[in-house]
Amino acid sequence: MGELAPDNWHLVAGGWWPTASPTALSLTSGPLYTQDSMIDSALIPPGLEAEALGALASAADEAAIEAWRVQWLGRQDGRLTALLRSVKEQPVESRAAFGAAANELKRKLESALADRNEAIRKEALRELSTSAALDVTLPGRPQAIGRLHPVTQTMRDIVKAFEEMGFRVAEGPEVEWDRYNFDAARIPEDHPARDMWDTIWVNTLIDGKRSMLLRTHTTPNQIRVMERTPEPPIRVIVPGKCYRQEATDATHEWMLTQIEALAVGEGVRMSDLKGVLYGMARKLFGNDRKIIFHHSYFPFVEPGVEMAMDCFICRGSGSDCRTCHGTGWIEILGAGMVHPEIIDKAGYDSSKHTGFALGIGVERVALLRWGIEDIRHFYQNDLRFLAQF
Ligand SMILES: [Zn+2]
Repeated sequence: MGELAPDNWHLVAGGWWPTASPTALSLTSGPLYTQDSMIDSALIPPGLEAEALGALASAADEAAIEAWRVQWLGRQDGRLTALLRSVKEQPVESRAAFGAAANELKRKLESALADRNEAIRKEALRELSTSAALDVTLPGRPQAIGRLHPVTQTMRDIVKAFEEMGFRVAEGPEVEWDRYNFDAARIPEDHPARDMWDTIWVNTLIDGKRSMLLRTHTTPNQIRVMERTPEPPIRVIVPGKCYRQEATDATHEWMLTQIEALAVGEGVRMSDLKGVLYGMARKLFGNDRKIIFHHSYFPFVEPGVEMAMDCFICRGSGSDCRTCHGTGWIEILGAGMVHPEIIDKAGYDSSKHTGFALGIGVERVALLRWGIEDIRHFYQNDLRFLAQF
């Protein structure tokens, strides 16, 4: 910018200043520096306004603008402030015109500063509204809403299969009297079958005796259903948790979910039981699974059977398989014809009414469905496992 300066200006402290020479400050010589300006360039250095405005235009943010303000309009060392202060050094005859010109420049710069501030503010606002804007065309973020536990899913599927065959659901207490859990199911106090379940008792003595327990099977609820049903037919399933003080391994847990079914009526036969079991197995596992029945003993049925399926881990070979303990088969349920004594105890006539009952371990069915190798996964609350179902 220095080479553009006319002879009557000199550089002082980074800015152009008029020389003190009266000849050079001739008021009649007219403006040498033409701009869209009222400022007399004979008094104010030409290019000063352009320099200031150019610097302001290139100030990109609020900090740069403030630096510019301090540099040009600052009270202490502002270049324009210094120019205004220099009025008193001007020759008397040009002092008024110089002051007017300097004030006009100051007004212009202040106005430009306000404009620039406003522009920067608007730009920041526009940028914010772009970067932080809501794009309604983006697909929504999926929310983790959880899912049903695999055992619950399996239980509901089994319940549905039975409901489609005409059974209704009845629920009962998990803390049960021993007379429902054992006595009414033909397991009296001295009966060896009580040893089959190491029972979890409630530590409350009634008449010096423990008589409350966590039910070891859902059979007591079958008794309760018969108790409140004056006359067969009965078609009911009783799902729920049962508890046994049991050493855990790949196929045993101390808490298990059971679904028992009970059908009592005139002419209910073993073939009805098998038909219902086949119907349920077809619904849950498809037709290609092998199913085997063999005789078993449960105190509350006569005769009793166990139903097993071919092992899903070793495909029935049994070699070194910890899931089926080398047998090739996995028992999934026990069943049988309701013992006539239980029919009679319920107030029915066992010469007329017969029934079948079955109990399914829901966890075992879940193991079979998904080929899970260890029943203990279900209750370890590991989401990496649970989220797969
Ligand atoms: Zn196996």
